[in-house]
Amino acid sequence: MALYRDEAVVLRTQKLGEADRIVTLLTRHHGRVRAVAKGVRRTSSRFGSRVEPFMHVDLQLAEGRTLDVITQVETLDAYAGRLGNDYGAYTCGTSMLESADRLVGEDGHPAAQQYLLLVGALRALADRRHPSGLILDSFLLRSLAIAGYAPSFDACARCGVAGPHRAFNPGAGGMLCSDCRLPGSANPAPDTVALLGFLLSGSWPQAEASGDRARREASGLVAAYLQWHLERGLRSLDYVDR
Ligand SMILES: [Zn+2]
Repeated sequence: MALYRDEAVVLRTQKLGEADRIVTLLTRHHGRVRAVAKGVRRTSSRFGSRVEPFMHVDLQLAEGRTLDVITQVETLDAYAGRLGNDYGAYTCGTSMLESADRLVGEDGHPAAQQYLLLVGALRALADRRHPSGLILDSFLLRSLAIAGYAPSFDACARCGVAGPHRAFNPGAGGMLCSDCRLPGSANPAPDTVALLGFLLSGSWPQAEASGDRARREASGLVAAYLQWHLERGLRSLDYVDR
């Protein structure tokens, strides 16, 4: 059996048979990988606790016919433990794992940018570097952009005329000018639109200067934009306190 090493974040796990788990990983070099962790539900397991959601690990896998098998795991960082006491940060992190699982394409296709974005966002969340909700929304916008759904918060998403514009339409790709405006578009406040731009570009000092109202409105628009581009919405986003 061919062996390979990689770094990964554990996105989710599911039970398999009596004692095993199927672990969904976002790896640095092999994209999303679903692998079997044998015997990890036994209390005697050597690495059961290292293949839980939020674990950042270095691991060795053996190529299998259908699923690869995890043969070694070393912990790089344990984000669940560092988020554990902060419910708000924890639910934001859960939404990141779920959206990474959904936005990274087929298994095995390299997704290094998504991997680095996720690790950076989890670290920022665990270090309490910025307010949790802003880290989540920035992560979602940038992850959507990497997946090919970059929203436009300045120029009109349809004709490209320079902004700022008043109408937001998820299906059209972001802000629309008065000529391109579609029925059913939202009319967010100008400071909300500015905040969305700061979150997409990672302009943290400007993003942190935003008010609560702009943050709440921006979160709603990010969620709407994400829902539009995923077939089903994110369940975990319902638990995020906005
Ligand atoms: Zn236009």
